[in-house]
Parts: sequence; C-alpha cells; structure tokens
Amino acid sequence: MVHFVGAGPGAPDLITLRGAALLKQADVILYTGSLVNPALLDMAREDCRIYNSAEMTLELVLAVMKEAHVQGREVVRLHTGDPCLYGAIREQMDALDARGIPWDDTPGVSSFCGAAASLGAEYTLPGVSQSVIITRMAGRTPVPETERLEVLAGHGASMVIFLSAGLLEEVQSALLRGGYPPQTPAALVYKATWPEEKIVRCTVGTLAQSGSEIRRTALILVGGFLSGGYLRSKLYDPAFTTAFRTGCEPCS
Ligand code: SAH
Repeated sequence: MVHFVGAGPGAPDLITLRGAALLKQADVILYTGSLVNPALLDMAREDCRIYNSAEMTLELVLAVMKEAHVQGREVVRLHTGDPCLYGAIREQMDALDARGIPWDDTPGVSSFCGAAASLGAEYTLPGVSQSVIITRMAGRTPVPETERLEVLAGHGASMVIFLSAGLLEEVQSALLRGGYPPQTPAALVYKATWPEEKIVRCTVGTLAQSGSEIRRTALILVGGFLSGGYLRSKLYDPAFTTAFRTGCEPCS
C-alpha cells in the first residue's frame, strides 16, 4: 500500500494525526526533500528506508514503490503542504493504478493556510473578497492562456501565488497590468511556520523591490484582505437568524 501524506507547511506538529501515525509505521518513506521539513523524519522507525524524491525521477519513485509493494511493505509518499496542490500526485496515482498497487491519500495543511495563519489573515472578508485564487506564474510548467496572472488579476480577488518568488518583477507587472491598483496590499511569506519564517508586507507596486532577498519556498499574497476595512459577518450578527440561532430584530 502506498499512502500519499500531506506533511503540512513546515512546523512538524502541523502534520495531521493520521499522517503522523502513517509516518510512524512506514517501512519506506519517499519525501519531497526540497520542501518537506526533515524534522518530520524523526517520527520514522529506525529501520525505515528513507528516500529523498527531489533527487529522483518519477520512474525511480515508482520503482521503489513497486519493490516495496512486492515485498508487502507500507510506503509513505510525503508531500509538502497538501498533496493536491502542485504535488504531481496524479501521475503517481495513475501509474500505481496501472500496476495494480493500492494507494490512499491523507490531506495536509497547505502552505497557503500556514501563511494566512502566520499573518493572522482571513482571505474571505465580507465586503472585500469572497474568493481565493490559487495560481502561479508560468515557468517551465506552462499555465493555460485563460489563467495568465494578468487575466486572473482582473477579478481583484484575494490571491495566493505559488512557485513564483523567483519571478517577482514579472509577477508585479502582470498584477498591475491586470488591474490591481499599485497600493493594493501584498505580502511575501517565506517558509511559513518554519523557525526561519520571514514575512515581508508591501504593496503590489513595491513587491519586486521589497522581496528582493526572497527567492524560494515563498508565497506571494495579494489583496485587500491583508489590510484595511471590511464588513461585519452576517453569521454572528445579533439580528441575523440562522438554522441554529434566532436573531433579535430590533436588537437592544
Ligand atoms: N503542496 C504544497 C505546494 C507545493 S508547490 C502546498 O500545499 O503548500 C511548492 C511551492 O509551495 C513553493 O515554491 C512555495 O511557493 C510554496 N510553499 C510550500 N511550502 C511553503 C511554506 N512553508 N511557506 C511558503 N511557501 C511555501
């Protein structure tokens, strides 16, 4: 059995209880060494075989999984954050299906949630934005034409940009071309929830200049949710009736 497991954003105690239990019992661990906090490997059994997938091809990863499967061993494939975002898991799952190797998937705390927690931010503020766009700049992996950053910027929604900290100039000009005013709040969060986490708060207009020290393992957050006003929630408004509570109207 191969268990895909979300490692969380960095802090080792942000893995789920289920993920930790799987790590502790694994015979083989394949972890994304470029991003996963190696402190998580302290949970592994002493006799566990540990592979850093950052140095491997998909073919090699699959060969290790297949060998372990034939030997009846439990494999954990440890991906950073939640495996469902930029995790390249689908190609592994499809290949495992083709080989008749069973797998399951345990979610994790994505870095975009870790970054919001570090900033004390809520992406979905009433009166500001009710949508979060998760995207990236095109790099060696292409982005569909209709999802170009400047097209998505046109929504003015809360935005989280992955895998693009090395392209800040391009990100900044795409956001401006797309219509975010230069004074729109922005933030760079480097290694959210790790001990060496760094937060840079800036605006869309100063993004490239403010983040010149930050290159890898960082998220770019953009939108009015990062500062300024918002409307009070309806859910907790005394006058608002919900399925669980009757509102008072007029309220004293
Ligand atoms: N599945 C992961 C994303 C993997 S893509 C998740 O859910 O978070 C790798 C990119 O994620 C990095 O280039 C960076 O943009 C972002 N990232 C991953 N961990 C991060 C962290 N702790 N802090 C900030 N950004 C992070």
